[in-house]
Amino acid sequence: MIDLHSHTTESDGTFSPAELIAEAKRIGLEALAITDHDTFRGYEKALPFAKEAGLELVCGIELSTKFGGATVHMLAYFPWTPPSAEFRLWLDQLLESRRERNRSLIEKLQSIGVDITLEEVEQQGRTLTARPHFGRVLIDKGYVGTMQEAFDKYLDESAPGYVQRREVPVDDAIQRVIAAGGVASLAHPVRVAKNNWDTLAVWVRKMASAGMGAIEVFHSDHTPENVAFYQSLASQYRLTITGGSDFHGANKPSIDLGTGYRKNLAVPYSVLEGLRNSRR
Ligand SMILES: [Zn+2]
Ligand SMILES: [Zn+2]
Repeated sequence: MIDLHSHTTESDGTFSPAELIAEAKRIGLEALAITDHDTFRGYEKALPFAKEAGLELVCGIELSTKFGGATVHMLAYFPWTPPSAEFRLWLDQLLESRRERNRSLIEKLQSIGVDITLEEVEQQGRTLTARPHFGRVLIDKGYVGTMQEAFDKYLDESAPGYVQRREVPVDDAIQRVIAAGGVASLAHPVRVAKNNWDTLAVWVRKMASAGMGAIEVFHSDHTPENVAFYQSLASQYRLTITGGSDFHGANKPSIDLGTGYRKNLAVPYSVLEGLRNSRR
């Protein structure tokens, strides 16, 4: 069993890179990809621990992109060579736009009477400060009882605190990933196109023609019907299959590393072999 989608404390997970490697080892994973949002820091910090544990670690990342008016998460994997310096520079710019978003989010929350400061939220995050870090502070200060409530009341796209982050057009992100030596994979397609299968098929075709090389068929949120449909899309558009739990530790407590939601996941090693063999 492998897991190609996981997050550390360097983005919005609660396991440090070292803890994540220990967990992967404990449950007997054959390979793990760390796919933090917008940063390779977690992967890089995990490398020596993975080496020591004899665990195969795959370099990955998750990017927030725009398709039409919608937000689409795009995973990128670098199974052949490390990502280019140019790509890393581009990531630094993305992190800066996230900081801008955070400053506006604080202002907005303060304007609706929430007593919260940027310093408090940044203490929760490491390389980047994401919405779950805001959620933690809202819980600690008693504004909400749970992370779900924090998102519903303040942080979700429909909530009063929501601030749009500048996101990259999906084509641009795919091209940058390819230029950096990687392969782009559509993350959790169940959350794409409002789970309308016909619309999703059209979107996937467009992304595939823009150079997207893979699709995340296996994911904790996917039903067996979803998996079968995404598999058919993969063969139709000649996309490589990827899969993983999207593990976030205590920020998504019902999701386990490797086995997903109530053991609905068991991604075989052959998926990683397929990814390796997909070099065009
Ligand atoms: Zn995602
Ligand atoms: Zn994710």
